Amino acid sequence: EHEIVFIGRSNVGKSTLMRELLGAKVRVGKRPGVTQKPNFYEYKDLLITDMPGYGYMKGVEHAKQERIKDLIVKYFEDHASRIVCAVQVIDAKSFADIVDRWDGRGEIPIDIELNEFLHDLNIDVIIAANKIDKIDPKDMDTVLDDVVERLKMYPPWSGWLDRLAPITAKKGDVDHLRYLLKNRLRAIKREDLVGCF
Ligand code: GDP
Repeated sequence: EHEIVFIGRSNVGKSTLMRELLGAKVRVGKRPGVTQKPNFYEYKDLLITDMPGYGYMKGVEHAKQERIKDLIVKYFEDHASRIVCAVQVIDAKSFADIVDRWDGRGEIPIDIELNEFLHDLNIDVIIAANKIDKIDPKDMDTVLDDVVERLKMYPPWSGWLDRLAPITAKKGDVDHLRYLLKNRLRAIKREDLVGCF
C-alpha cells in the first residue's frame, strides 16, 4: 500500500486544496481545531491522509497544539515506509514572517521543525505554497525566494519546481501540484494511480 500525507498549519487552505484535488467528498468550512484526528481518503490502493492542522488556533490551548504536532511526528515515524511523499501546505505570503517571529523568540517554528524532521526520515516533501492570489505580482519573486530560503533551499525559487508548487487552491489553480503528485506516482511505477490527481 502507498500513502500521500498532507500537513499544514491551521488555516493555510489545506481543506480547500484537498477538496480541489480530490473532489467534493472532502469536507471544508469546518471550524478550526475541530479535526484532531487524521482524515483518510482512498483511491484504489493509494491512501491519502489529511493530518490535523497545527500551530495557533483560536480557542485551542497550547497543550493541544503540542499534542497535534506529536501525533503528526508519530504518524510519520510509524508509516514512513509506505509514504510516497508528504505535501506540506503553507500560506506563501505569511510564511517567512511567521518563521522569523518564532526565530526572534528563540523558538523553532513548527513548519521548519516538521520539514526537517521529514527530511531526516528521508521522506520526499512537496511544498504547496498556497494563496498565491494574495501576493502582488511584483513581489512574487521576493516572497517565494524568502519561502525557499527559510526552508534552507537556495534561491531562486524557480530552481525548486521539482518540489515547490505555487498554487491558489481557492481558485482551482493547482496544476503544478497535480503534475508533481502524478510524477511521484510514476516514479514508483504506478501509472494506474495518477488518475487520483
Ligand atoms: P485549513 O484550516 O488549512 O483546512 O484551511 P481552509 O481550507 O479551511 O481555508 C482557510 C481559509 O483560507 C478559508 O477562508 C479559505 O477560503 C481561504 N483560502 C484557501 N485557499 C485560498 C487561496 O488559494 N487564496 C486565498 N486568498 N484564500 C484561500
